[in-house]
Amino acid sequence: IVTIQGVEKSFGPVQVLKSVDLSVTRGEVVVIIGASGSGKSTLIRCVNGLEAFQKGRIVVDGRELPCEEDRELGDERMLGEVRKGVGMVFQQFNLFPHKTVLENITLAPMRVRRKSQSDAEVFGMKLLERVGLKDHAAKYPGQLSGGQQQRVAIARALAMEPHVMLFDEPTSALDPEMVGEVLDVMRELAADGMTMMIVTHEMGFAREVANRVVFIERGRVLEEGTPGQIFDSPREERTRAFLSRVL
Ligand code: ATP
Ligand code: MG
Repeated sequence: IVTIQGVEKSFGPVQVLKSVDLSVTRGEVVVIIGASGSGKSTLIRCVNGLEAFQKGRIVVDGRELPCEEDRELGDERMLGEVRKGVGMVFQQFNLFPHKTVLENITLAPMRVRRKSQSDAEVFGMKLLERVGLKDHAAKYPGQLSGGQQQRVAIARALAMEPHVMLFDEPTSALDPEMVGEVLDVMRELAADGMTMMIVTHEMGFAREVANRVVFIERGRVLEEGTPGQIFDSPREERTRAFLSRVL
């Protein structure tokens, strides 16, 4: 459902992605690990078009994302289509502070998908129930804990009925006691068959939930495999060195 081939990305003179190849099949959960600055965020931001890449191809759900040059030439046709089908959850929850929880969730489906308010609200309440927050629908983000806000952010992404969900360190900004509730929601999503690409430092979660773990080093996929392969018997010395620092 996601194909990344030979993708290269630079910020000015600094090459951040150096020919990345990675495929994700439907229903697969891929966890991306790697040192700070290795290009993890940049890679997943390329997958939903938040960053433009200069070389290679990214195809999501049969739609090819325009590279930077195509975008400059005004060929952005597929960009909106891809974004509609890809949900993204960031480290910072980025909720609209002056809108209620339910309004945060119904906004995009009404504007982008042209859903009626009542349809959007019915579906939104279902999603809030799924993330354990249906009693908080009328509250404002500021009245919720960090873990609750992040669960709202997940519900908001799901409201667009994405085929792929991207997570960039979704628990890194949370107090330790709130990490579990967010990982539980992600675990359930995985069990329901959602296709997910997750950047995280939660190695226990990765071992338990990932179908595949991908180790990125300096803008390349250095090694990938099942959690058992990567965590218990990595082939590459540099994977081993990274894991010994974080485990
Ligand atoms: P972390 O674990 O710290 O989140 P990361 O693996 O997500 O790191 P990226 O955020 O993808 O790493 O950054 C990769 C490199 O690209 C870094 O050297 C970073 O400084 C650089 N970079 C990222 N975004 C930009 C930008 N908008 N402009 C210039 N350089 C950038
Ligand atoms: Mg990052």
